[in-house]
Formats: sequence, structure tokens, C-alpha cells
Amino acid sequence: VCGPILVSACLLGIYCRYDGRCETDERVMALSKDHVLIPVCPEQLGGLPTPRSAVELLDGRAVTRDGADLTEAFERGVQQVLRVARLTGARAAVLQPRSPSCGRGIIYDGTFSGTRIEGDGALTQCLRAQEFLLLAPDELG
Ligand code: SF4
Repeated sequence: VCGPILVSACLLGIYCRYDGRCETDERVMALSKDHVLIPVCPEQLGGLPTPRSAVELLDGRAVTRDGADLTEAFERGVQQVLRVARLTGARAAVLQPRSPSCGRGIIYDGTFSGTRIEGDGALTQCLRAQEFLLLAPDELG
């Protein structure tokens, strides 16, 4: 991978997860030895607080269990991340699995029942459309 790499900020131990937990992924941290990592949390960049309600994607909308529609904040956050990518020249991203923003390939189905389906989170959809290299932590070895 050449150039800086976008990273889901929560993988670097930054306090931004919806549930307020902080976890550092050592495989991702190790990447910083050879690469410039750029932590981004699209949900926070879209204006949402931490902690916050869990969100799943349903029919293209970002909704909470009690039906609040946060699609606008999600979209705003995606635009902010794309802006950071343009400014830094990043063309790759390491993404937190199963998130409604950062998930790649598998997300939850919008019923809040823990059911997984094929699909990408809101950010990942845009990064994929722009042909970013998309990596999961368990692919870093
Ligand atoms: Fe992590 Fe992405 Fe969720 Fe932010 S939006 S907490 S970076 S998975």
C-alpha cells in the first residue's frame, strides 16, 4: 500500500464507538510503523455524539432501533471522510467490520436481531465506488 491509509478511528483506541467502549487493535497499530495512518470516524464527523444509539442500515437509510432516521448525519460524515481522503491522497482504508458506516462485505440487516447480511456500510459503499483498497484488520496478518 502506498501513501497514507484511512483507518476507522475506533480501531486505534479512539473514543468514538457507539457503545462508548475503547479497544485498540494491535494489528492495526503495527501498521503505523511503516505507514501514515489517518483515523476517521464518519459518524462523529457527521455530528453524532459518543456514546450514541446503535444504528443499522434499512432500505438505504441509517436508523436506530426506535426508528430515528440518522441518514443525514451519516451522509455528512461520509462527505467529511472523502474530503480528508482527497486532502491527504489516501487511497486505502482499514475498516471496522460490520459497522453500518465502516463495515465491508457484511453488515447487520436492519432488524436489530443480530442477523448478518451481505453489504457495505455507508462509508464503505462510497470508498468502494471510488476504488479504494479496502482492508479488514484480520487481513493485516
Ligand atoms: Fe468506528 Fe466507523 Fe463506527 Fe466510527 S463509524 S465508531 S470509525 S466503526
